[in-house]
Amino acid sequence: MKRALITGVTGQDGAYLAKFLLEKGYEVYGTYRRLSSPNFWRLQYLGIFDKVNLIPVDLSDTSSIFEAIKTSEPDEIYHLAAQSFVGASFEQPIATGDISGLAVTRILEVVRQVNPEIKFYQASTSELYGNSREEGILNEETPFRPASPYAAAKLYGYWTTRIYRDAYGIFAVNGILFNHESPLRGLEFVTRKISNAVAKIALGLEKELRLGNLEAKRDWGYAPEYVECMWLMLQQDEPDDYVIATGEAHSIRKFCETAFDIVGLDWQEYVSVDKRFMRPLDVKYLCGDYSKAKNKLGWEPRTKFKKLVEIMVKEDLNRWERWLNGENFPWDAPNYPSEVKILTRTLRT
Ligand code: NDP
Ligand code: GDP
Repeated sequence: MKRALITGVTGQDGAYLAKFLLEKGYEVYGTYRRLSSPNFWRLQYLGIFDKVNLIPVDLSDTSSIFEAIKTSEPDEIYHLAAQSFVGASFEQPIATGDISGLAVTRILEVVRQVNPEIKFYQASTSELYGNSREEGILNEETPFRPASPYAAAKLYGYWTTRIYRDAYGIFAVNGILFNHESPLRGLEFVTRKISNAVAKIALGLEKELRLGNLEAKRDWGYAPEYVECMWLMLQQDEPDDYVIATGEAHSIRKFCETAFDIVGLDWQEYVSVDKRFMRPLDVKYLCGDYSKAKNKLGWEPRTKFKKLVEIMVKEDLNRWERWLNGENFPWDAPNYPSEVKILTRTLRT
């Protein structure tokens, strides 16, 4: 039986990947942060909480990474843990550099010293491209031009992965994943912020939705399909880097329009622009060319934009309805504070 170690198993991708690998017959180990109340709702939501072996790991502490790798003795490591929110990286640029960047070296150093046969997946991102292009599609050869502390940290992780591959022969790959969403997406990301607000507005629980830059365009795919690529990349004969995307870009404005349409409302009556949600620097346009993944991994996106929006809005609607009926189930939204109340440098009026 193969063994996999997933860092960040409590996150969106970690939870879906854990489910996928369990279905493939893997023994799955997952790292989580020691918090006073750890965040296991996604694993519970997918019904796999008791099937994953959990290991507490602090990514700033190499000895805890060492312990996790010694304890799990993995064949494959999927390194997904990160400070993953671009907006927060402007507030916490140093911690983001440490957790989303330097921690990649910490893990790869342990791999190199403990067992260089372990295969390693690095969660790289379309944010690496930053404002490299304002049209066309981005592929593995397009130059990177990061536009946030998050992207700079991930650029470091990207190159560290390639360096350990070339210098030490470690099977280390970068998945350059474009935005991917689902009902398990964190509430601070724009897609889930919208789907959650649309559900609440439709049920009379909320009156408005405040957003930042409506003009930015993203290539949004469906997260459960994207975690399959992570596994596929580690099953190849040679390590390589791959873009995973849908090849379509849509604006935040379009996402709003589509989401409100699903509940029969006009988005313009509810959405307003609030400068608190504008970033000091934003990425205007991301659209990926997944042809290498199609040719070499045999992977293609199945869920496109409209279907994705529908899945997210319907699931949030369903959850709020269950909640109104007094049902108790693992879920993030009821305890999430209104973003307008959170004071940070970029979000202050
Ligand atoms: P999430 O934010 O949902 O999950 C991030 C995970 O990292 C969580 O398990 C979180 O723990 C953990 N984590 C955060 N900070 C720390 C820390 N200081 N120490 C240890 N663990 C920590 O992200 P996704 O699942 O969406 O993304 C997975 C990876 O893929 C990330 O590296 C992200 O940057 C990258 N990525 C994501 C894309 C997307 O569109 N989703 C696109 C491209 C790349 P906790 O649950 O306790 O917060
Ligand atoms: P990102 O692509 O990883 O930064 O994913 P996000 O979902 O956080 O943001 C996607 C785009 O939506 C960015 O261009 C944001 O500036 C834009 N956006 C507009 N309004 C909001 C908002 O209220 N919250 C977030 N998170 N993003 C917003």
